[in-house]
Amino acid sequence: MTTILSSNLGYPRIGKNREWKRAIEAYWQGDITEKTLKEQTQKLRLQNLQKQKEQGIDLIPVGDFSLYDHVLDTAVSFNIIPKRFQDHNPAELSTYFAIARGGEKDAVAAEMTKWFNTNYHYIVPELNDTKPKLLENRALYYYQEAKEELGIDGKPVIIGPVTFVKLAKGYEETELEAWVDRLLPLYEQILSELAEAGASWVQIDEPVLGTNLSEKELKLVEKVYQNFDNKISGIQLILQTYFETVQHYQRIIKLPVDGFGLDFVHGDHLSLIQKYGFPADKVLGAGIINGRNVWRANLENKFQLLADIEEAANPKTIIVQGSSSLVHVPVTKNTEEKLDTVVKDGLSFADEKLTEIKVLTTALKEGQESVSDAFTASVHAIERLDQSDYRNQTVEATAENIKREVPFEQRKKRQQAHLNLPLLPTTTIGSLPQTLEVKRTRTKWRKGELTDDQYNQFVQSETRKWIQIQEDLELDVLVHGEFERTDMVEYFGEKLKGFAVTEFGWVQSYGSRCVKPPLLAGNVEWEHPITVKEIAYAQSLTDKPVKGMLTGPVTILNWSFVHEELPRFTVQDQIGLALEKEVLALEDAGVSIIQVDEPALREGLPLDRLKWPAYFDAAVRAFRLATSTVKPETQIHTHMCYSEFGEIYEAIDGLDADVISIETSRSHGEMVETFEINDYKKDIGLGVYDIHSPRVPSIEELEANINRALETIDVEQFWINPDCGLKTRKEPETIAALKKMVEAAKLTREKY
Ligand code: GLN
Ligand code: ZN
Repeated sequence: MTTILSSNLGYPRIGKNREWKRAIEAYWQGDITEKTLKEQTQKLRLQNLQKQKEQGIDLIPVGDFSLYDHVLDTAVSFNIIPKRFQDHNPAELSTYFAIARGGEKDAVAAEMTKWFNTNYHYIVPELNDTKPKLLENRALYYYQEAKEELGIDGKPVIIGPVTFVKLAKGYEETELEAWVDRLLPLYEQILSELAEAGASWVQIDEPVLGTNLSEKELKLVEKVYQNFDNKISGIQLILQTYFETVQHYQRIIKLPVDGFGLDFVHGDHLSLIQKYGFPADKVLGAGIINGRNVWRANLENKFQLLADIEEAANPKTIIVQGSSSLVHVPVTKNTEEKLDTVVKDGLSFADEKLTEIKVLTTALKEGQESVSDAFTASVHAIERLDQSDYRNQTVEATAENIKREVPFEQRKKRQQAHLNLPLLPTTTIGSLPQTLEVKRTRTKWRKGELTDDQYNQFVQSETRKWIQIQEDLELDVLVHGEFERTDMVEYFGEKLKGFAVTEFGWVQSYGSRCVKPPLLAGNVEWEHPITVKEIAYAQSLTDKPVKGMLTGPVTILNWSFVHEELPRFTVQDQIGLALEKEVLALEDAGVSIIQVDEPALREGLPLDRLKWPAYFDAAVRAFRLATSTVKPETQIHTHMCYSEFGEIYEAIDGLDADVISIETSRSHGEMVETFEINDYKKDIGLGVYDIHSPRVPSIEELEANINRALETIDVEQFWINPDCGLKTRKEPETIAALKKMVEAAKLTREKY
């Protein structure tokens, strides 16, 4: 007899009203004390656990909580503190936040990067010059808390050692094993203390198993888990992977752990099990509810999948669970009141997903009849959406026009004749500080307390103020500031047909920053101009060029919750074609520089490299669908964040944008080093300072960054800009930083 259990791999931290964010930001502002912060966040954490208990989940995760990021938590608990913070007390909360956000003086924040192919950002641990030791057994702390406060025998979740070291930096590739070895005793201590405290399950996350590991790395994985098997007893260790098919299935399932958690949504593990079997004495965590998407599951199909998995694997224990942590989805759809019912009925956020997991568990235990109502309801909801307006016509995305009329060299001349920009032009990435007043005014307008007219006038006044500031700063290419946008994807989601937007569907992006991805429910179409009014207004205020700002098709797709029944690349083309209409509308309105942001291009890359060419082809095609039909005189810009340029060089080149700006500052110039791009002829702006921290850079620092870049990049090609949008920054620090940036540009120009 197979034992059947339900489990969750991780729960959203932020709370259904973003209480988490509010508490943390209030603490940063000095409005609440550390004690209050801890009380408030503990309350939230316990509520989250309690909710999972009430939902009847058997294995409730503990230790998935964090005050910023769980990778940072892990690093700090290992005493892995970047060198520049090593004179701080590692046990203090201020140290923790300083690493994440930047400290005083020149203590720049640690690098932040995307967690695999998600939009969750983690803080990259810096191993160099650190002496790992276990400062705190976090997993144990949270395990005991859940037990004492709520009587929950939780399942501690920890990041596995190979994944942790692979995600870290500050070491040579050849030192991977040495670093893992150094951490193993700490892991052993964590696990034995958990065993001693009575924990019966531990989830150890090794998502790197879904990436292309080398033979050496695989051997290391084998060694690590053999080692745990030799040293640890009394707990059941579940090796958890997600986001992709495990690359070396046959070897992985031989590892001496107690069970394997596999993603059956983003990985084809059923075929592997059917082909190679599954060890009879092991636990199988069947991740079948999509932890990355908000759409309701077709429970009949999922049940069938579960039955197939059970039949093929015939494991000792089967655990019904999400495909990954639910940290990637909003908390509950219950609070949504404005959504179309057909959309709302088709949704499933974290709490609803737990219900789905529970229903499937019951069905597996007691038979499908016991939950037939829930099954039918899920099937009907999906059918209703399929028959709705959202799907009623198929937009053919067959446009052939993906090539600009003339090649870059000629375009550059024609654009320059028209724009007349100085050497090393200065610009920003698009958004300018959204003050409390901006946010409050928007809220009032949303609540109906302000008319559209009043709100527009306010947005215009912000733009007016900032056009003046940018002129005073003597920036060369200005922006309107994006004051009318809460979020670069949601804004377009609100205005393109095929999308729906939620009121409270927030997910954590980095630190306390949350985003509210739109829901992509059907075929995408452009119905009316989206950005023209704001850009044209800004342009009317100045003689300098104002950039039109759009979010690109790849980013809109990646940062939306795309319904699983829609073919992704087709939808991406549809978005590209819709944006083309917007690009042409801007051009018609006299806008001569148009930036189409693609910050998500890198992050959307499949974990399996074999899938890259298809992904790149589709991404490049969609971007070009949006941008190729403009006149040669119109300058197309694009912007990307956290891209490892080397890996995606061809795609970036393929976009054929006239100017690209890339985030670099936060990876401390590493990007410049990887610049083997002497053949890259188009214009490029490598961010010269980090906008993710309030720190104002010094002229020397800016000049150093510029000079470093100019060692590799021709001065005629280089643009000077911050590394990303400025909307999260405050006004005074932004003006101060931009002032220094323009000064540094002028000083550099004098040398040429
Ligand atoms: N234009 C956007 C902004 O400045 C780009 C944001 C991003 O790269 N994530 O806010
Ligand atoms: Zn950016």
